[in-house]
Amino acid sequence: MYDMIATSAQAKLNPFRRELLAQPFPKEWKAWLSAKMAHYRLLNDAERTRLHDDARVLIAEKTWEGCDGLKVTEMMKLTVAAQAALLILGLEHDYFSRVLSIVLFPTDFELPAESWEERGRVVAGQAVNYGSVFLSWETVLGEARDPTIGHNLVIHEFAHQLDFLDGYTNGAPPLRSREQTQRWQQVMHGTFQRLRRDLQMERKTFLGSYAATNPTEFFSVASEKFFSLPRQLRQCHPELVEVFHPNLQRRGYATEAVRGLLAYAFTGLRVRRIVAECDSRNLPARGLLLKAGLRQESECIQDRLQKGQWVNTVGFALLKQEYESSGQ
Ligand SMILES: [Zn+2]
Repeated sequence: MYDMIATSAQAKLNPFRRELLAQPFPKEWKAWLSAKMAHYRLLNDAERTRLHDDARVLIAEKTWEGCDGLKVTEMMKLTVAAQAALLILGLEHDYFSRVLSIVLFPTDFELPAESWEERGRVVAGQAVNYGSVFLSWETVLGEARDPTIGHNLVIHEFAHQLDFLDGYTNGAPPLRSREQTQRWQQVMHGTFQRLRRDLQMERKTFLGSYAATNPTEFFSVASEKFFSLPRQLRQCHPELVEVFHPNLQRRGYATEAVRGLLAYAFTGLRVRRIVAECDSRNLPARGLLLKAGLRQESECIQDRLQKGQWVNTVGFALLKQEYESSGQ
């Protein structure tokens, strides 16, 4: 995942946490997670251990409340905490230090009405900065079992909490370097604007209209898709996968992302021809385009000024019939 920094007291193992984690993880909790949380079955041993530890700290340190007659059980806490821990698996984090309590409702619930509203909105969840995360238990359980629904309320609301960490509600968690932040903003802003344009033109979109509400909802919805429909996200928005998980690019996923893009363009958008170009010195990019099936068509000599130096541009292309006959 992206290289986030935790802004408050770092997640040190204080004596309380050390004692808590020295206890074996209960067998019945493992059995519950195996049965109720689809993601859990996909994790390796090291990831499971990390998830167990983070979930136990979240269960122990947050205040848990039930509303509308719901009695919150240990298994309910575990289901929420394990999915929240999934979001921060592999990140430097502080156990969502701004989340003071987690409040569960049996099903969707009504928010307090704003001054201009007659009645409050009925929602499945809400995240409050330096406050609570409110969740519909019915939704939490259904989505834990079946990620193919494409939604994950826990991931959505806790992604808001990551977004709040740097003090800005802008769809960006606090990232480690300036380059990462710039790249993040560039990609997220570009994809957000494209989504809004597509919706205006009444085009079908993968992320949906709710993601177009504002950049913070965009980040939360994209996070849901990253965890629930990663393959489709990679096909429709490889650029988002690249900023969410830069390491994937180095593990050969970039080729897969380009192939996904080709499939989407030729079969989804029904384009006839795809062109791509890059700096001739960028050998990894050239290799990537060739590996994905594009053909080099041109090399324009010294047509681009880059950092005071004239450089060559190589052009690649692929026709729909070439793509289809290659059997990709
Ligand atoms: Zn939201």
